[in-house]
Amino acid sequence: MKVFIMVDMEGCSGIVASEQVIPSFPDYQEGRRYMTEDTNACVEGCIEGGATEIIVRDAHYMGRNMLWHELSPHARYIQGNSGSHRMPGVWDCDCVILLGYHSMAGTREGILEHTMSPESWQNFWINGKLSGEFAIDAAIAGFYDKPVVMVSGDDKTCAEAEELVPGIVKAQVKKGLSLYGGELLPREKAHELIRKSAAEAVKKFREIKPFKVPGPVTLRLELVSRNSLPSPANKPWLRIIDGRTFEVEGSDFIDAWQKLTGR
Ligand SMILES: [Zn+2]
Repeated sequence: MKVFIMVDMEGCSGIVASEQVIPSFPDYQEGRRYMTEDTNACVEGCIEGGATEIIVRDAHYMGRNMLWHELSPHARYIQGNSGSHRMPGVWDCDCVILLGYHSMAGTREGILEHTMSPESWQNFWINGKLSGEFAIDAAIAGFYDKPVVMVSGDDKTCAEAEELVPGIVKAQVKKGLSLYGGELLPREKAHELIRKSAAEAVKKFREIKPFKVPGPVTLRLELVSRNSLPSPANKPWLRIIDGRTFEVEGSDFIDAWQKLTGR
């Protein structure tokens, strides 16, 4: 039984501030430790739940956040640039866990809310529905018919996940009070919750349905800044909507995602 764990940083336990997730700040070092500890708790839980193989992808920023020398020996780790795919190997797994996730751009009182890039992405829609990173990664997993069985993050992230994947196991490790603050579970309780949730999720993976986006898929992106639209030359699938917004259309989610992001 094989599990794929995507780990982002903003939704990890103990994290409330940008300084904890941006490498140039001293507080980033504590953020790395928190992310590593959440990952280890999740791996332990997966083993407890019956996983025999676990792949973990460090999915924040440049993918070099988790402290490799402190990671559990019970998984394999993808760090750094993951090459041509956002979730390499997900197609060989039985289920997916999205750990340390955050709510979509614009969510009120969502801790460190954003979608992909806070500097350049304002709003993002999948087939007309406003969406965030949980939806993106759940859709990639869903393309390969893999269910997302567990999420961890703040209360807003958990609600966002439940709406798309009914019955998903939620490890709510904090409650958002603002963009840069919230009420946190203490460290040991957060780890315990992640461990137990992962074990439960892995045990019941067959009960949770993959999040499938029906094709053809339209992805609409509203950018933060003006004058930064992609050039439509030789791109018949690209439609400019206004001075900051464009759409791409693909036959399925992966096709549309590649057209949007180039990978
Ligand atoms: Zn991140």
